[in-house]
Amino acid sequence: MKKTDIKSLTLQELTEAFLQDGQPRYRAAQVYRWLHRGATEFSQMSDLSKELREQLSQKYEIAWAEIEVKRVSKDGTIKYLFRFSDGEYVESVLMKYHHGYSICISTQVGCKMGCTFCATGQSGFRRNLTASEILSQVQAASLDEDVRISNIVLMGMGEPLDNYENVLRFLELVSSPEGMNIGMRHISLSTCGLVDKIYDLADRRLQLTLSVSLHAPNDKIRTSTMPVNRKWNVEDLLRACKYYTDTTGRRISFEYAMIHGVNDSDKCAEELAGRLRGILAHVNLIPVNDVTGTGYQKSGIDRQRKFVSILDSKGITATVRRTLGSDIEASCGQLRGQRKGGNGSYES
Ligand code: SAH
Ligand code: SF4
Repeated sequence: MKKTDIKSLTLQELTEAFLQDGQPRYRAAQVYRWLHRGATEFSQMSDLSKELREQLSQKYEIAWAEIEVKRVSKDGTIKYLFRFSDGEYVESVLMKYHHGYSICISTQVGCKMGCTFCATGQSGFRRNLTASEILSQVQAASLDEDVRISNIVLMGMGEPLDNYENVLRFLELVSSPEGMNIGMRHISLSTCGLVDKIYDLADRRLQLTLSVSLHAPNDKIRTSTMPVNRKWNVEDLLRACKYYTDTTGRRISFEYAMIHGVNDSDKCAEELAGRLRGILAHVNLIPVNDVTGTGYQKSGIDRQRKFVSILDSKGITATVRRTLGSDIEASCGQLRGQRKGGNGSYES
């Protein structure tokens, strides 16, 4: 019999399961606290009887993210390659900011979306992560560095809205007061634009920050770099974004990776400003990260400045994002790509 993934259960679900097994309600709360403090074995739950621990380990399994590789950048950014029980890998990046620690985590092993500039997209899709596996990345990094993590970004490998149920469950777990208690206001979710899910998310009125990977001002360019644009084009996407900001009152952060000669002309900046008019938006410009085999180059510093100034002059606020950890290949998919290739060029 397959064991139940206990850490993906909400406190309410765990309580119901315990009551059904004739256990008192407070036992469920006790176990939930252990799980959310990062216990990896029932034997660690020292305030439970030996019989109960044995019983639980027959019925349930506890997901965990084992550290396979850890790299520390000169700027203090830490990149983890985590391994799950079935031998699949994902990456997470822990960053220290003046306001505390922030972690960028993965939601899938690989990704189906196939964006041409993205290392994860190029490596294909393996599987969804469970809610407990998404949570385990936050726990494992926090325990490893012995720090409290205050911010989470769902911007690692995978498309969070393509693993929607598990991601929603993760959000509920990580924000629960009896769990890590990281409030929605401290969580950002980045999507390549799954429009049906953006409407659904808006209607849930969660307090999280939505980032939308736009990367192009029109369908011609966007379809050439992001296949998802064939299903929902720029107009569909921006209509959903407008609905999101109108419904939630929350600003959307638009991600725009600047690729030399592809999407970084003055005309692109003007078109982008025109399209974002009327949407509560901020534009995050990121010089595209070099991914082997894509042939893309980042826009030069002068181009970046000019692009910002055009957006600015049209009333759209934009910033060029500072890149952390560039010496440890901190951008998504790069480390796992090396591991898969088995060229052994990484170090623990
Ligand atoms: N799938 C989601 C979240 C994970 S990707 C999404 O696409 O939004 C996280 C961010 O990294 C996205 O904004 C994505 O477009 C960006 N990204 C991917 N490859 C990149 C590269 N080579 N350079 C710069 N940004 C990149
Ligand atoms: Fe997937 Fe995001 Fe990479 Fe596109 S950019 S392939 S959606 S992870």
